[in-house]
Amino acid sequence: MFTASPGAVSTITWPGIEDLLPPSKIDCAFSDCSPAGLRLFIPRQLARPGVPVAAQVIDLTVTRPHLGGKRYWFQCGCARRTERLYLPLGLELFRCRYCYHLTYTSAQQHDQRVYDLARDFSAMQAAISCGEHRRALLGVSAFILRFKWTGKRGFCFD
Ligand SMILES: [Zn+2]
Repeated sequence: MFTASPGAVSTITWPGIEDLLPPSKIDCAFSDCSPAGLRLFIPRQLARPGVPVAAQVIDLTVTRPHLGGKRYWFQCGCARRTERLYLPLGLELFRCRYCYHLTYTSAQQHDQRVYDLARDFSAMQAAISCGEHRRALLGVSAFILRFKWTGKRGFCFD
């Protein structure tokens, strides 16, 4: 879920990954763009040292839940409405998980490359920090898969 108000200047933060990646943040501003929504302006900046974010405009749509209030959604460049946008390593635009082929962990379990990385912590760590986009995505997928194992099944590594 997302809350916002017209004219507000906000800082959006998101967590890192264990001790592999530090947290990041961006400054952005909102404006009205229609009766139904808001527009988010992101100026070019660094989300953290060495991680540039391109200037980007993202529309927000609003729905009204049964119990009242408003619920905001990001409108991705592909026109999908989404609660979350992603900024993969090495890329500068926020897009939805479909745009970046970030599938759910159930699908990732069938990817042997992800499975192998998840079994090998140092290889996963190297993949995440390698700076090469596709390899880093595999590493992040492996991390999510590993987290699922350790969190839900009590599976333990090392
Ligand atoms: Zn998208």
